[in-house]
Parts: sequence; C-alpha cells; structure tokens
Amino acid sequence: MKIYISADMEGISGVVSLAHVEPGSGEYERFRRLMTREVNAVVEAAFEFGASEVVVNDSHNKMDNILVEELHPRASLISGSPKPLSMMQGIDGSFDAVFFVGYHARAGSSEAIMDHTYTGSVLCAKINGRAMSEAGLNGRLAGYYGVPVVLVTGDQNAVRCAREELNDPVGVVVKEAVTRYSAKVCPFDVVKERIRQGVKEALEDVSRFRPTIEEGTVELEIAFKQSILADVALLIPGMKKKDARTVVYNAADYLEAYKVFRAALAMGSGIR
Ligand SMILES: [Zn+2]
Repeated sequence: MKIYISADMEGISGVVSLAHVEPGSGEYERFRRLMTREVNAVVEAAFEFGASEVVVNDSHNKMDNILVEELHPRASLISGSPKPLSMMQGIDGSFDAVFFVGYHARAGSSEAIMDHTYTGSVLCAKINGRAMSEAGLNGRLAGYYGVPVVLVTGDQNAVRCAREELNDPVGVVVKEAVTRYSAKVCPFDVVKERIRQGVKEALEDVSRFRPTIEEGTVELEIAFKQSILADVALLIPGMKKKDARTVVYNAADYLEAYKVFRAALAMGSGIR
C-alpha cells in the first residue's frame, strides 16, 4: 500500500502564531522540528497499519521545512520549491491513499489557526460554486488521479473543512483553536496516540474511501482581497472578470483548473 502525505505547518499540534511558521523568526527552528516529529509519527503509524511505501511532500511556505536528517528512515521526502504541482507534487495514480497533515481551515473561518487559502491574498476560492480550503483543492487533484484522501490532521475547523469538501476522510483534531492565533494544545504523546488511532481507522479498510472527482469541465472562481490581484489574474487567456476583485475561469478538467489557480496566485505574488 502506497501512501502520499502532503504536510503543511499551520495545523501542526503546538503551532499557534505566525512566528512559529515563518522562516527567519526565532521560534521557527523549534517548530520545524515539531513538524518533522509529527510527520514522522504519521509515517510510523502508516507503516504499522499496512503501508509499504510513504512519500512526504513538504507543503508549507518554501517547502523545505522538514528536517531531512530527522526524517523517518523509511519515508522519502519531496523538499523545496517551486514545484509544478505545489502542495501535491508527486501525486499520481500509483498511490492508494492520501493523507493531509498539519492542514488549516479555509480563508474566512473563525476559531481556526491561521485560516487562509494558499496565500493571504485569497478571500475565497471556489470550485463549481463551492468554497474550498486547501484540503478541498488538493484533494480534488488527488481525485483527478483516482486517489482518495483518507486522513486529515489539524485543528477542529481544518478537519471540518476537509470533511465538508471531500468524501469523508478520517479527521484527527490535534489542537482546539480558540482564535486565529490561540489554541488549546496538549502533550505530544496524546497527539501521537490520536494520530495512531486515526491512521489505523483510515488504513484498516482503505478500499471503502472514494476519491473526490470533479467530472467534466470545472469552473474556478477566485475572489482576491484586492482588485489589483484580479487585474493581474486577467492576463491569463480565458480568465474572465466577475467583479472588481473576482475572476472566473472555465477549465477543461481539474488539473487545468488547479494549474490556472496556481498561476493566478503566482502572478500577483509580488504585488502589494
Ligand atoms: Zn502552510
């Protein structure tokens, strides 16, 4: 059984503040170690419950957070950026299941540690009219390749978003968010056991999970926080303006929609 893990950082158990997740801050070095430890706990449980191969894709910021020297000896790691498929680099139809580790709620969620959708510039991203978190967006790319998302870890609203947007992945709540920058956290041994139980539940009968597949053409809608970002996104051929801050693109399939979403965000990344 081949497992693909996309690992973000905001939803790692002890993480509550921007200083914890921003390279260059004093606290970051501590928290990347905690991220590595938590990813390793997931990898360990995956092998315990039937995995034969685990690929981890570092999916936060510059995507080189996980300490390779401390990586679980049986895992392989995709590190660094940019990557063509970003948070889902390396996914293909050879995998049996996808885990999202350390994920966070979509932009505009309350009681959600550092809620956002890909970048701070996105107010709302929709697929065929439905608002999506990163779990929903990335899970549909897994679905494009026929692979189900079977596990998500993060705070209670990260798990809620993923379960709303995907076909019932197992959710492991590793902290209870109070506000965007505060949460009730617990010792790692407790988190580790919750993760172990979640992985067990997900892998016991992995064939019961269905991939989340967008059939046919896909309508991508992006509402930005600033109109200038919509203006820049309109440079993409086929992109249409809905209102001052919102653009719409009709893609032939989900892979195209995902790439256009990434391109639209990248084009505006230097603009303030
Ligand atoms: Zn992140």
